[in-house]
Amino acid sequence: MPSYTAPLRDMQFVFDEVLDAYATLQTLPSQREFGHDLGGAILEEAAKLAANVLAPVNGPGDKQGCQYDPATHSVTTPDGFKQAYQQFAQGGWTALACSPDFGGQGLPHVLNMMVEEMVCSANLSLGMYPGLTHGAINALTAHGTPEQQQAYLPKLISGEWTGTMCLTEPQCGTDLGLIRTRAVPQADGSYAISGTKIWITGGEHDLVDNIVHLVLAKLPDAPDSVKGISLFLVPKFLHDGSRNPAFCGGLEHKMGIKGSATCVMNFEGAKGWLIGEANKGLKCMFTMMNSARLMVGLQGLGIAENAYQISLGFAKERLQSRALSGPKAADKPADPIIVHPDVRRMLLRQKVVIEGCRALAYYTGLHQDVAHDHEDPAVREQADDIVQLLTPVVKAFLTDEGSTCANEGLQVLGGAGFTEDWGIEQLVRDCRITRIYEGTNGIQALDLVGRKLGLGGGRAVRHFFAMLETWLKANPEAPHTAAVTKALKQLQAATMWIATEGMKDPEQAGAASVPYLRLFALTTLAWLWSRMAYVAQQKLDAGSSETTFYGAKLKSADFYMARVLTETDGLLAEIKAGKATLMAFSEEEFAV
Ligand SMILES: Cc1cc2nc3c(=O)[nH]c(=O)nc-3n(C[C@H](O)[C@H](O)[C@H](O)COP(=O)(O)OP(=O)(O)OC[C@H]3O[C@@H](n4cnc5c(N)ncnc54)[C@H](O)[C@@H]3O)c2cc1C
Repeated sequence: MPSYTAPLRDMQFVFDEVLDAYATLQTLPSQREFGHDLGGAILEEAAKLAANVLAPVNGPGDKQGCQYDPATHSVTTPDGFKQAYQQFAQGGWTALACSPDFGGQGLPHVLNMMVEEMVCSANLSLGMYPGLTHGAINALTAHGTPEQQQAYLPKLISGEWTGTMCLTEPQCGTDLGLIRTRAVPQADGSYAISGTKIWITGGEHDLVDNIVHLVLAKLPDAPDSVKGISLFLVPKFLHDGSRNPAFCGGLEHKMGIKGSATCVMNFEGAKGWLIGEANKGLKCMFTMMNSARLMVGLQGLGIAENAYQISLGFAKERLQSRALSGPKAADKPADPIIVHPDVRRMLLRQKVVIEGCRALAYYTGLHQDVAHDHEDPAVREQADDIVQLLTPVVKAFLTDEGSTCANEGLQVLGGAGFTEDWGIEQLVRDCRITRIYEGTNGIQALDLVGRKLGLGGGRAVRHFFAMLETWLKANPEAPHTAAVTKALKQLQAATMWIATEGMKDPEQAGAASVPYLRLFALTTLAWLWSRMAYVAQQKLDAGSSETTFYGAKLKSADFYMARVLTETDGLLAEIKAGKATLMAFSEEEFAV
């Protein structure tokens, strides 16, 4: 049976050797004490938890799924989930990067991301319960009243309770202005919440005693658009222990993440309290969604890593045909399939994309810590610009590539991949949703071109490009600087094209958005691969004994530049082709 081993050496390489993250974190007042010993020990413990506690219930959880009992509106999670969740919470993993003011450990966000990657590799379905709770914690920390924070944060942070995000309704997914759930003010200062939400992750389950729903709803006099949305806190059980009428009306039967309860939620005049200001709910939601989007990116990365491990293990064992250059395992009836160029292509594409995505995710996560905690407001602003700019890129690219890698991994296994024996078909199914929820990847691309490029009048993207240019100038001897320079010029040309054409006609920006996000991601990965190869080169030059590890980094960078980055030529051409070929079709012409 497949097993998962956390890629600790690669994580440490990116975090410590490439990003020099300990040094950066120690400049922050909250992280002065955070060093190699503590970071390393936490990651090792997380790796054990992922492999020994979360992974074993992943496959069985997929087969069993969640069960709904209409008589009690209750949901039972798969066997073993409750025990695994309890071990997770009791080990303090829900509290890792949360505020010490409410019982959190105050450790770096980027460390939490690394743990999250392992959790998602091992068991995405189970990871969803604490994952969504994190969004609720962030929203309450940023926008809750002191009373709300005292009442709810300690138990959410300890994992004693979980949280949800209740946005989606049958008529309203991407366009939250269409929300119909109503909030009617009550004499005691609370609100009566009525309406139906669908596809609510962890809306009901048996892992904990209480569930805290964060619900988007409209006040009676609210404007009929996104400007009329408010956010409410609606607990399953009230302070006096009475049951709030927020009931699960059923479970979705879905393609993947079957151990994650995806619920219809009926709010039947449930008691709720306003979070933040009336009609400013979208702002609060974005607090939840921005960090949740980074976390969904990590789901794609985590699944890709697991798929890679399974396909690599298979490729070393499966014997089929002889190598084109002559037998490699002459004592066996055939060679292992890892000798074949096409199998190598599939494996190596996974490997270099995963390692590049890992660098991109941790790079963004590190800036999240700097943006929160640095003493200098100018440094905080620059770091926040990077986080904002890269959040849609991390969400969309890592999940698109997570899906592609899982599919490539399955292909390596041939027919065995399509069977349930190897667990990789589950990964393909589980990963598919990551491209859809938390804003579809198409919407992430619109966010990048529509909001993030314009951030601070273009300040964020100008600073990002300038930083890459500065690095290239300062490190001319780094491997592959010519390839990175070429990609950066293409990205700058595409940015200029969108700025001019999109300004005249927003449909041009809409048409360019998805290839633009990809071009952005591939270019950023090229820069990170150049940095990783440079570090590897320096280590080898200094006589490191880890010649296999660092040698593989150099070869991986070569592979990335020669076989992955080449896509940028086509993407730039597609962007510049503009909207004409998309918009020329009449609706009738689609059907003939
Ligand atoms: C398993 C699962 C778990 C979920 N968990 C939660 C949860 O916990 N809480 C919650 O509130 N929701 C949850 N959702 C809902 C999820 O966030 C939505 O599915 C997602 O936001 C997309 O909305 P939609 O499905 O209604 O698609 P639609 O909004 O109907 O979009 C359909 C298609 O049209 C495209 N589209 C829409 N508008 C535009 C536009 N302006 N420009 C370009 N393209 C556009 C989209 O990209 C998409 O491809 C979950 C869904 C699933 C399946």
